[in-house]
Amino acid sequence: MTIDSIKNGIVIDHIQAGKSMEIYRFLNLESLDCSVAIIKNVASGKMGKKDIIKIDSNININLDVLGYIDPDITVNIIQGGVRVDKHHLELPAKITNVIFCQNPRCITSVEQEIPHIFKLTDRKNRVYRCIYCESKAKEQN
Ligand SMILES: [Zn+2]
Repeated sequence: MTIDSIKNGIVIDHIQAGKSMEIYRFLNLESLDCSVAIIKNVASGKMGKKDIIKIDSNININLDVLGYIDPDITVNIIQGGVRVDKHHLELPAKITNVIFCQNPRCITSVEQEIPHIFKLTDRKNRVYRCIYCESKAKEQN
């Protein structure tokens, strides 16, 4: 795989500079056996600097996770060397098992098999709360 072009795969673009490793972790990209390129601090007219992740395979990306981390990210689907699709993200209304409730008295701390579900309660300020105990999710910066 060359850094500039991939034939079939996914390009995650407009990542805030420095956030690519967080996304790599959240999307579990280390578990892939295809090539993954992380390009950091690319000059960008709009953003100053940005990060880009290129994945040399058409895997299923969890768009909710990406939208939660940063809704300004764009996801390009590449087939046969050309872009065939472009996803714009938004803050998901609900996320499951992406972040975990830190409240030791929350039922999710007691019952291991309960999914950790957070609901978007304030879209403007990007506030998510645990659906069980209403604890606020840790700030994303
Ligand atoms: Zn909770």
